[in-house]
Amino acid sequence: MLLLVAFPGPAATLQVRISGHIKVVPVERYVAGVLAGESGSFQSAEALKAMAVAARTYGVHMRGRHAAEGFDLCDTTHCQRLEPDRVTTRLTAAAADTAGEMLWWQGKAAFTPYTRDCGGSTEDAAAIWPDQPAAYLKSHADPWCAKSADAHWQWTTTAERLAQALENEGLRRPARPTQIAVLSRTGSGRAALLGIGGVDGSFRMSASSFRFAVGRQLGWNTLRSDRYTVRFGDGHFWFEGGGAGHGAGLCQNGAEQMGLAGKGYREILAFYYPGAAIGLNAQGLRWQRLSGENISLLTLFPEVDSAVLGLAERQLRAVAARTGWAVPAKLEIRVYPDLDTFRNATGEPGWVAAHAEGFRIELQPTASLRGRHALESTLRHEIIHLMMAGQAAPGLPVWFHEGLAEWIENPIATGPAGTPPPAEFRQTVEPSRARRAYAEAHAMVAGLVRRYGELAVFGWVKRGLPPEVTNTNASQAPPNSK
Ligand SMILES: [Zn+2]
Ligand SMILES: [Zn+2]
Ligand SMILES: [Zn+2]
Repeated sequence: MLLLVAFPGPAATLQVRISGHIKVVPVERYVAGVLAGESGSFQSAEALKAMAVAARTYGVHMRGRHAAEGFDLCDTTHCQRLEPDRVTTRLTAAAADTAGEMLWWQGKAAFTPYTRDCGGSTEDAAAIWPDQPAAYLKSHADPWCAKSADAHWQWTTTAERLAQALENEGLRRPARPTQIAVLSRTGSGRAALLGIGGVDGSFRMSASSFRFAVGRQLGWNTLRSDRYTVRFGDGHFWFEGGGAGHGAGLCQNGAEQMGLAGKGYREILAFYYPGAAIGLNAQGLRWQRLSGENISLLTLFPEVDSAVLGLAERQLRAVAARTGWAVPAKLEIRVYPDLDTFRNATGEPGWVAAHAEGFRIELQPTASLRGRHALESTLRHEIIHLMMAGQAAPGLPVWFHEGLAEWIENPIATGPAGTPPPAEFRQTVEPSRARRAYAEAHAMVAGLVRRYGELAVFGWVKRGLPPEVTNTNASQAPPNSK
């Protein structure tokens, strides 16, 4: 991590109420949490990526929905179900692989509902949300979900239990009901208006109110969608239907089948949101991959950023030659088109130039990096991190990682040596505190190199720190010299 001056910018995070507490969550972490809550069982990586784009877009579109309560989004299905404790590396990867990508309509983040199973034809959004009509959310046939487990279902309940459920929901309770008639259907064939009749007469109710009442009272696996026929007999209502959920937008069972059949996430999104632009901004700009010898680079502007790849390859070889460390098998650099997208993806503040995790370096737009020298040293610093992380002994302290990266960059350290706790490097509130932590770690490693020699210190990455160093605290640090 290198430090830059502060940039102003809009919020790169969402305020989410999680289990009653309002938390600030970087957008990509939110996306991974929603995948855990809404589609954790997907087999297809491409379907998962399609869901990541839909969930990200939905979250950004709905930002501020709970503004009156002091946060953006809740963690239930009212907004999107979030399960941060069930996030896996697979789900994090689906978010990272599509970082920043959204669906766009008329220059804004699109309204992107999704459903468990559309039952063979998607619903027109206007039939469910009259205030959210969308040209890309019209009803259309979906052959992909036909073989899913949700394609056909039956549900039976006694008339008495159903009447009680309506009463428990504060709705009108029919006396000894004997009839539920579908009075009208939507264009896609789903029940829209019901007539419910008992010995005390009959009344009308919207099919969606009826389904939510039944779902809340008797469970969501009962009346799974509005696509059904119903008859009365023997004191029971017999429902027979297809699909699960409201039916609009991306059909999860269909998306899963498309992915398993080899379709890419963009194809899946184009099928379920036809006409909406997919990309990092409203113009639909997309990542392009440039491949080097050891590194692949993702960028929106290959002409501008192709030089970064050559620079990074040279840094990688130079660091490997100097330290004797192995070159990582896989290394990816992603150059963000603007600061906002970078912050959304990484959760880093604007004064952090880059973010390295796993095999990936995420970089601010190169124009923000104030020239070739800043770009070169940022790349070198992060490449050193990834090379170290790939071989590091367990428990190697953060100050050693950061101090060694600084030392390779610059073998002259000034100021007092120290072993700051990890939080000092990772805190993103005060640039000056982070800068001090780097300087202390830098001086600490410089002292160790003087005492033990550079090759010995490089070797500690793999072997771990010797006990006499582990036991050294900041006040006993080797004296600092010029
Ligand atoms: Zn660093
Ligand atoms: Zn909500
Ligand atoms: Zn479907």
